[in-house]
Amino acid sequence: MKLENLEVCNLCGSDELSFIEDNNICQCKKCGYVFDNPRPTWNEIMSYYSQSDKYDSWLEEVEERDLLWKRRLRLVKRYKRSGDLLDVGTGIGQFLFFARNDFKAKGMEISESAITIAKQKYDIDVTRGEIESINWDSKFDVITLFHVLEHVPNPSSTMERCRELLNNGGILIIAVPNDTIGIRPTVIRLLSTFKIGKFRNYGRLGLPRLALDGSQSEIHLSHFTPSVLKGFLERNGFVVIRNTLDPYYAAKGIKKVFHDLLCLACLLVMKILRINLYATIWIVAKKLI
Ligand SMILES: [Zn+2]
Repeated sequence: MKLENLEVCNLCGSDELSFIEDNNICQCKKCGYVFDNPRPTWNEIMSYYSQSDKYDSWLEEVEERDLLWKRRLRLVKRYKRSGDLLDVGTGIGQFLFFARNDFKAKGMEISESAITIAKQKYDIDVTRGEIESINWDSKFDVITLFHVLEHVPNPSSTMERCRELLNNGGILIIAVPNDTIGIRPTVIRLLSTFKIGKFRNYGRLGLPRLALDGSQSEIHLSHFTPSVLKGFLERNGFVVIRNTLDPYYAAKGIKKVFHDLLCLACLLVMKILRINLYATIWIVAKKLI
């Protein structure tokens, strides 16, 4: 695996970095951003995501994922009910399939295998590439990044491009894992301490070591907290209008009831204590003119 080292914080440009875990997790002393350093090069990651079996698990739980995407679409429609929408890192196109009933929806994706599935399964043409290099012929009213920002190598340029592509007053919706605070990382830290299961190799922050050998289903280059993400957006010409949790679970039946209740409980805690203890973050931001 080819690795690269980062010398400055991608979110704020500061070179005041400190290693907070075993020389593989860095934190910016200025803005608090936590990221993997060193990390695999982008070419390595691109080929990882284009493996033909990468999306098999998604296809095995289509019904559960349909519920998930409909749930997220309902949340998007609280802010915009129609218009031009771009879904960045759209995967196999399941969200676009539902969103196109209300929006003129387009999607982009780096994974060849995901694009092929989107065409075969949903008859959706997804544009291949990175948001920074694709030229769209019009701007958008909504841009969504569902669990994408933690994967991109350069969140700053992604955000700058999102801003360019949004109409004035346009809405940006970002969902990312809440990797370092809350219930999930606390449980993982416990399992890691007692060397239980696959978590035995996780560090004291509850984060996995980056590997492209299939031992991890996803590669997270960034580990955001709600406040770091909010600060990042505000420095990039956005005003945050909602900072809450993303009901990210793909579940049905009794499993869904459990997740619904957990999500509700965490929403309640957020309302009272203003802390997001849930496994995910959902941020809605408006482009400032
Ligand atoms: Zn920083």
